[in-house]
Amino acid sequence: SAATVNLTYRESDFDGPPRAFGFVVPAIEGRRIIAGSFSSFKFEGRAPAGAILARAFVGGEMSRDMMRLGDEEMTAAVRDEFRALLGVSAAPGFTEVRRWPNSMPQYEVGHLARVAEIERAVAEIPAFAIAGAAYRGVGIPDCIRSGESAADAIFATLSAPK
Ligand SMILES: Cc1cc2nc3c(=O)[nH]c(=O)nc-3n(C[C@H](O)[C@H](O)[C@H](O)COP(=O)(O)OP(=O)(O)OC[C@H]3O[C@@H](n4cnc5c(N)ncnc54)[C@H](O)[C@@H]3O)c2cc1C
Repeated sequence: SAATVNLTYRESDFDGPPRAFGFVVPAIEGRRIIAGSFSSFKFEGRAPAGAILARAFVGGEMSRDMMRLGDEEMTAAVRDEFRALLGVSAAPGFTEVRRWPNSMPQYEVGHLARVAEIERAVAEIPAFAIAGAAYRGVGIPDCIRSGESAADAIFATLSAPK
């Protein structure tokens, strides 16, 4: 389970506004966020000129306790971490917490062998395919690739001469 905490700032709230898409925080750092990103640098139109839309990622398998916090406590923890990591102490103009329960597949040792076995079983069912984050990558590009190859496999079966 994970949550995103979205916060808006003015560029002037930062000593030097970050010029990056974001950052990940290794568990060894013992921080209460697992990553941060700046949506307004990634995508057009996410914040007006002079403003920054930032997002912190909280929770995950290694930081389950964070998911027990209420929205206010979670936002306060993120503000503490942003103060320590990014030097921003101004109050955000707007905050919003979004929770994503049980959303991240956890690949364990032996995952690839398990997936290969599933795929062998799936291949025996005509015009049937599987796709998504549970199998060969959780990133959006991985999910798109798996969706497209599932569609190709079904199309090939349906269009094969009988
Ligand atoms: C907080 C968060 C941030 C992320 N950020 C990024 C990022 O920045 N970049 C990136 O590349 N990836 C990111 N990811 C990962 C990526 O978004 C997911 O791995 C990906 O969206 C999963 O796609 P999916 O199609 O496998 O599953 P989903 O998008 O979860 O789709 C599954 C669908 O199945 C539906 N469903 C479930 N059960 C049933 C049922 N019984 N019957 C019918 N429908 C059902 C659900 O409603 C849902 O619509 C992030 C994930 C999270 C949780």
